Order: sequence, then C-alpha cells, then structure tokens
Amino acid sequence: MIKAVRGMKDILPEEIPLWQKVEETARDVFETYLYHEIRTPILEPTELFSRSIGEATDIVEKEMYTFEDSHQQLSMRPENTAGVVRALIENRLQDLRGSQRYYYIGPMFRRERPQKGRFRQFHQIGVEAFGDAGPYVDAEIIQMLARFFRRLGIDAYEVRINSLGCRSCRPLYIEKLRAAMDAASATLCEDCQRRRDKNPLRVFDCKTDQEQLASFPVITDNLCAACQEHFDGFLSSLKKMAIPSIVYPSLVRGLDYYTRTTFEFVSTSDALGSQNSLLGGGRYDGLVQVLDGPVLCGIGFALGVERLIMALPDVLQEAPLCYYVAHIENEGFARALTLAERLRDHGVAVAVGNPLKAIKAQFKEADKMGATTVFVIGPDEAKQGVVTIKDMKTGEQRSVPESEVMADITERA
Ligand SMILES: [Zn+2]
Ligand SMILES: [Zn+2]
Repeated sequence: MIKAVRGMKDILPEEIPLWQKVEETARDVFETYLYHEIRTPILEPTELFSRSIGEATDIVEKEMYTFEDSHQQLSMRPENTAGVVRALIENRLQDLRGSQRYYYIGPMFRRERPQKGRFRQFHQIGVEAFGDAGPYVDAEIIQMLARFFRRLGIDAYEVRINSLGCRSCRPLYIEKLRAAMDAASATLCEDCQRRRDKNPLRVFDCKTDQEQLASFPVITDNLCAACQEHFDGFLSSLKKMAIPSIVYPSLVRGLDYYTRTTFEFVSTSDALGSQNSLLGGGRYDGLVQVLDGPVLCGIGFALGVERLIMALPDVLQEAPLCYYVAHIENEGFARALTLAERLRDHGVAVAVGNPLKAIKAQFKEADKMGATTVFVIGPDEAKQGVVTIKDMKTGEQRSVPESEVMADITERA
C-alpha cells in the first residue's frame, strides 16, 4: 500500500467545512480592509529563502525540501513572505495605483521532526502590507485579526507586542544587554552563555534564569526617538481601538531587516497545549531591499491553519440538509432529472436515484447518504404532476405540486 509522505496528511471531506469556514472568513474580513489575494508558486529559487530567511537558520539549513532542476537549486516554500516580496518586485506592483496590500492562503513545506500539531506540509494564511510606514497600519492589522477571531468565535487569546527598534538603536541596546549579561555571567545557564554571542535577544526565552532576566534592560526602554514615537503611536492606536495588549520584551526576531513592531497572538485556552502561539508577525522595513527591490517598508503576519482549527470552539457541526429524488419508470426518471436541476438552480444539494435500482434500493441509498428528505416520483405522481415528499426523520409524507417543491422546502428549512 502506498502511504502519504511522513508528516503530511489528507484533509478529509468531514474536516473540510472547518477549513472552508476559516478560509472564507479570512477572505471576507481581509477584503474589507482592502487586502487582495495573491497566489505565488510553491517552488521558488532556493536563494530567495537563503537571503530572506537567513543562511544560518534551521529552516534554510535543515528543513527545506530542495532539489536541483536544470542547474538551478529550487525549494518548496517554507513560508510565503519571501514569495510575495519577490512577486512584488518582479511585477513592479509598487508602481501600480492603489494600496499594496496582499493576503495569501496555501500550503508551506518544512521537513521538521513530526510531532503533535506539526506537519511537514502545513497551511498558512498571511497578510503583507507594503509602503505604509505606520504605526497606524500596525495597529490596524491587529484590529483586523481581532475581527477575524471574533467572527470565528475564538476569544481565548492574548495579544503580545514589542518593538525591535531599528538599525541605529538596536545595536546600542544589544551592547547594553551584553554588558548586563556579562555582569550576571557567573549565574547564567549554559544556554544563555551561548546566546550572549550568537543571539543575545533570545536570552529572554530562558526559563531557568527568570530572576536575573527581570533586571536586564529591555528594548522598549532603549528606543531612539523615531522608534519611540512609532511605538507610542502603535500603542495609542491600539488603545483607541480598545484592543488590550501586553508588551513582551522576549518577542524578538533574529534578522536585521525586522524593525520596530512585532506581535504575536497566543491562545490562552488549553486546546493547543504548549504550542500555543496562533500567529506571529511584524514589520520588515529592510526586506524588500535585501531581495534587490526598492526602498519599501512592509509589515505582515502568518498564521497556521491547522492550529487555528484546533482552537476553534466546539460548536456541533449541524449536518447540512441533503435531498434525494427517488423515481420509478422512465417518466419518473425524466421528471426527477428536471426537478433536481431546478433545485440546484436554487443552490439545493440533491442526488438523483440510480435508475438501475428499484425504489426500495434507492431509499436504502438515500438513507446511507444521510438524506434528510426524499422526493418520490412514481407513475401516479408523474400523471398528476405532483411529488411525494417524505421526511426521513419523522416518516411523514405529503404531496406537493411539482412547481411548488422549492417553496415547500424553503418554508420548512
Ligand atoms: Zn530606532
Ligand atoms: Zn538561561
């Protein structure tokens, strides 16, 4: 038996309604904030990711599906900000009129160690907004996400925010942080010793050195005037939008092109276990240039659809109404076909019985299919121009003129 690739899974029809609901809600909500969908290829030149995500990251070093094709290294996209930025530059979208606001929905690929809720093919919904230096747009993205979660019935989350400063204030802050780490060096764990040189901002991730961390300088106290003004504007916009948020100094990103605003939505219900982050995002004012584009600022986020679906409230999925037309003899079959097409014109899901099957077998099939209502057109019905409608739950039957079937079921739906 041929099985799906390790860490990849089928999304079966019974799960699809939730996926469609999430995707439709995203489209609905994002479009009202003037974001438009963009679809970029799954395969991109490997260089796109090594330059944007960073050569020395786990994603690029170990997790990408990469192969050679006609002397070019290609990779299956592990995320989609890089692809959207490439598309923007290549199609000169920044020269078009209107807002450069995009969203995407699609599969991403990372060869990670498979574990609960983590897949090697996973799905992301993301947004990128270009050319708006903020800080109002930064807050508006959070507002849009709050609306998105509200529409999905998810309210157990908190919004964590931070500023990463910029190229002028962040290096000064890092020096200060290193000095504090050096002063506390004797008591810091081994991981933190390593972080000191490699990625000092990550020191705040440490679980064991909480006491020392509390006295370390935080970046939001060390911003330059311009970054401070941006952060204040971001905070005051959130306040005007009545969106509660918590400043988290540990909310950092490694690469230089990330600037200023960064944010995360974290689930506070236990549905997600320890992997409780719903989404992360932030400002990347240097990225377009890193990929040879013009000077153009940007901000965005990506959320994992698999995790979001785990966080959806347990509303009982009501089985959708499903209709079935059973029929007898040629005349009944012909009328069944006409009736079914007329109902489909109105968006009603309806199956027509197999003409090779007797009426009893058709009823059996209707039952197996979960049909809530069966229409019967036999010789008598055909002669009188009526349809017998049988409610499969109660067993009740009624006779309705063919032309009034739609009105009848609408009334009872
Ligand atoms: Zn700054
Ligand atoms: Zn530590």
